[in-house]
Amino acid sequence: MKICKTIEEMQVASRAARFGGLRLGFVPTMGALHEGHLSLVRAAKAQCDAVAVSIFVNPLQFGPNEDLAKYPRTFERDCELLEQESVDLLFAPTAEEMYPEKAITYVTVEGMSERLCGRSRPGHFRGVTTVVAKLFNIIEPDLAFFGQKDAAQAAIIRRMVRDLNFPVEVVVCPIVRDVDGLALSSRNAYLNAEQRKSALVLHRMLLEIQNRFERGERDAGKLIEAGKRVIAGESGARLDYLEIVDPETLEPVTEVKGPALVAVAAFVGTTRLIDNVVLDPS
Ligand code: AMP
Repeated sequence: MKICKTIEEMQVASRAARFGGLRLGFVPTMGALHEGHLSLVRAAKAQCDAVAVSIFVNPLQFGPNEDLAKYPRTFERDCELLEQESVDLLFAPTAEEMYPEKAITYVTVEGMSERLCGRSRPGHFRGVTTVVAKLFNIIEPDLAFFGQKDAAQAAIIRRMVRDLNFPVEVVVCPIVRDVDGLALSSRNAYLNAEQRKSALVLHRMLLEIQNRFERGERDAGKLIEAGKRVIAGESGARLDYLEIVDPETLEPVTEVKGPALVAVAAFVGTTRLIDNVVLDPS
């Protein structure tokens, strides 16, 4: 695996990887890799001739009071895991390399970026779309792989790619969960044993909503109320939002007539966790 720390090195290496019409797959990450990330890498390996991964904790997508400084960084271990998956290229730039001067140019998917996590984390999705646009320009992948775990992010990136004609195919891969149902996340590392148990409430809420939906409930308000009753019984967790939205536009729905995204964010201690499920009446 070739590790590139500068933009120029990465451009040369990814151009060489695509030489002769080979398909380059790309998996952007912030590191502290787990099986969720590796599932994206395996999907990319299966569908592409060469695979590039990036590890970059992007300052632009963190708010001033968020966990940028303490975000888990496990670079050596990440490299070992990626080597085991036979990844071809790793792009691991510094923040100074990516943002040599204070950024004054941004990519914003208007409206969608203020929904779900965008409401509680102002500027977050603008940071995400700006860095992903830069990474697409640097790496020029044919396919880019994202996780359904961050469903709003995936929808916003799909929209950015469509609106700005990026020559990239976006592939979204299923959520990888622990055996007890907790969605894998780099932020799970912040949880102690007790908090880890409380964190299961996110999945329990989604299961409750899914069960009611399968028994015929289509009223989004009633489904949300049922989910809120579940978290009300868990003293270790505090709800940020629970919403049922159109999976493409992220607009709230009142009745589930087509596929609908149920998205939840909650604090367990000071750790903010997210999860989701898609309801599909068909
Ligand atoms: P992050 O390092 O948190 O920025 O995540 C990098 C990519 O991995 C994003 O596309 C995430 O949606 C994806 N990802 C993170 N956790 C999971 C998971 N549990 N299952 C599937 N994909 C995931």
